[in-house]
Amino acid sequence: MSIRQEIEKREEEMLAEYATRSANSRGRAREEEDDPIRSCFMVDRDRIVHSKSFRRLKHKTQVFIAPPGDHYRSRLTHTLEVNQIAKTIGAGLNLNIDLIEAIALAHDLGHTPFAHAGEQILDSLVDGGFKHNQNSIRVLTRVEQHRKGPGLNLSWEVLDGVIHHSGYDSSDELASTLEGQVIRLSDKIAYVQHDIDDSIRAGLLVLEELPREYLDVLGYTHSKRIATLVTDTIMHTRCLIQQGKQVVVKPSPEIDRALKGLRKFMFEAIYNGPVCQAERSRAAFIVEHLFKYYKKNPHRMSPLYLEIAQEEGLDQAVIDYISGMSDEYCIESFLEIYVPRSLVPEAKKGLDSKGK
Ligand code: MG
Repeated sequence: MSIRQEIEKREEEMLAEYATRSANSRGRAREEEDDPIRSCFMVDRDRIVHSKSFRRLKHKTQVFIAPPGDHYRSRLTHTLEVNQIAKTIGAGLNLNIDLIEAIALAHDLGHTPFAHAGEQILDSLVDGGFKHNQNSIRVLTRVEQHRKGPGLNLSWEVLDGVIHHSGYDSSDELASTLEGQVIRLSDKIAYVQHDIDDSIRAGLLVLEELPREYLDVLGYTHSKRIATLVTDTIMHTRCLIQQGKQVVVKPSPEIDRALKGLRKFMFEAIYNGPVCQAERSRAAFIVEHLFKYYKKNPHRMSPLYLEIAQEEGLDQAVIDYISGMSDEYCIESFLEIYVPRSLVPEAKKGLDSKGK
């Protein structure tokens, strides 16, 4: 018996009956030999961590664009916070932690530079629109490469969890696995709480402005609110399971109402507030102009995107290229293309500034 088979056997014996077992995966788009050590979800998680798109998350905006401090969240630290919250909920429900981790680490790979500002402008520029969760699938199945094939060739359950991670306050379809459902909720638990923390850090919000009715329920500190949400989700879901009801991962109605209330408050006060809106229009300006530039000058993109342009059209190639950019690379590209530069050599400029 291989080590992987030992792991699969452990999953069979130890995970909850409603957990997803790697041995029962619906598989990958391209057939592959099983790994001797790792389960299919462990392999997927590792491919995601080793991808270039994952590394670029460190320079992609969470909410605040290029914040002047080391302690603000980036898209990478958001992803890690989602992962930690989701693994705790997963452990409390005895689910497949490797699958949870793979979905968590991949869920936002399709986010554009400048977060929702980039997403909104790309959405308006192409037929068929643009959504970051669909773009995460695009990154995972086409833009990233595995053994020179398109995409990372991940398991079906990972892709299903990624596509269904957004749309908390809607009737959008849920992920087929409970592990995928855990990510959708953990994403909201993470960003509402850490965006409150970052907004206070930025001086855009003081704790007293947050609606008391929700803090009374969830707690008055960052860690207390996360602990309340995580614990309640585990206990409420376990309760539903014990009652023999259809298993859906969710918090109790009172806690759910408080989380949704705080999220709505954050949309009004911060995400759609005056400071973020002002930054958003500048970010949109940059993305829109880069889109126009690469449409006219496709040869300035790397060879992969020229190949995509030939196969799927120029719009798709430019979207893939721009959406993959980090904030910094996007700004650098804009400066290089659109901002005139001095032709005076640096050494000469230094002499002049000293008046010599
Ligand atoms: Mg997210």
